[in-house]
Amino acid sequence: MRKVSVFGATGSIGQNTIDLIRRDPDAYNVVALSGAGNIRQLAQDAIDLGAEIAVTAHDHRLDDLRSALAGSGVHAAAGEHALIEAAARPADWIMSAIVGAAGLAPGLQALKQGTTLALANKESLVTAGPLLLAEAQAHGARILPVDSEHSAVFQALAGEDIAAVERIIITASGGPFRDWPLEKLRSATLDMACTHPNWDMGKRITIDSASMFNKAMEVIETREYFGVKPAQIEVLVHPESLVHALVGFRDGALMAHLGAPDMRHAIGYALNWPERRDLPVARLDLARIGQLSFHAPDEQRFPALRLAREVMETRGLAGTVFNAAKEQALDHFIAGDVGFTDMSELVEQTLNDLSAELSLNGDILTLDRVLEMDAQARRITEHTAVRMN
Ligand code: NDP
Ligand code: MG
Repeated sequence: MRKVSVFGATGSIGQNTIDLIRRDPDAYNVVALSGAGNIRQLAQDAIDLGAEIAVTAHDHRLDDLRSALAGSGVHAAAGEHALIEAAARPADWIMSAIVGAAGLAPGLQALKQGTTLALANKESLVTAGPLLLAEAQAHGARILPVDSEHSAVFQALAGEDIAAVERIIITASGGPFRDWPLEKLRSATLDMACTHPNWDMGKRITIDSASMFNKAMEVIETREYFGVKPAQIEVLVHPESLVHALVGFRDGALMAHLGAPDMRHAIGYALNWPERRDLPVARLDLARIGQLSFHAPDEQRFPALRLAREVMETRGLAGTVFNAAKEQALDHFIAGDVGFTDMSELVEQTLNDLSAELSLNGDILTLDRVLEMDAQARRITEHTAVRMN
């Protein structure tokens, strides 16, 4: 039996992961499950799957979790330290599906055991990619991409030499505001931004998809995973979300990955890797679909993509600032105190305010430096957001 842990088990990716585990219960031994506010779901899944330990990220919810687990034999724990301790528990496969930079420390800890980390938490790669990759290398751990575009690229690259790659194209649905003029975008509401045309995902990534911040993060993620130059990474708007990514080779060939927009494909691929096994995802009927459409993204209306390019040029801690400012700006948009297009302005402003500091810091990344810069960027974004009001 394979020992598996799922961090962010109560979320959209976590629940899809658990769905796959439940379909083959004899194959897995569940070590740790984590959540934050959804104690009922966390406890229920931990009991059903016979987990060793369930951890909530919220210290103050420990008693609730204990009561929910009473008599089950599942150990309860709470807080950031408990998450890190759970990530140190030996497991053969660990899903990193916490949302936000909060996923970084447990992910780094998991890598220290030299295991396989299935990485959905793109924020940790954006905020501290080189650190994660160095940790994986130092401990002989493997990071498998779970983001659908990066899983697609990884699959298209199987058996290929990365030196033969000319370009990597990741697709974007374009979100609900794909065709909106800039003026109208300014008045986009939270409800509108929370409706994704094709994918069913957590609230934060759904809004990030509408603003194209999700794609911007994925461009940076592509650079980290595959080590290509920023100029080799392209974004293509593809409203149907059936082609997830394409890899262009030096001989002109383009290898595309197609599949239904269902995260259980990418999760299942990482779970079964290096094998392919049956997965409960819809099969595409291309004759019925008939046609697919593509067009170039508009960086004027969606500045997040331009900002990602600037971040990749600056390198070092620019990704940390970008991610932290984006998370903070998103909090403000969700709270209703900044507008939809203010989010990219806030991120750009924070990057500008910290530009002198970023150029001084070069590429030296340690967890302490990342956390320090993350906190500083959040403070600056906070001040700017308050001034905007
Ligand atoms: P959800 O919001 O659905 O789930 C987030 C998970 O993280 C929940 O388990 C939540 O707990 C937990 N959590 C929230 N805050 C904290 C915290 N401060 N510390 C520890 N745990 C916390 O998100 P998704 O599942 O949509 O996304 C998870 C990650 O996967 C993100 O990085 C996202 O970008 C990435 N991803 C998601 C895709 C998708 O289709 N959903 C596609 C590709 C990538 P609780 O719910 O109990 O409060
Ligand atoms: Mg994606």
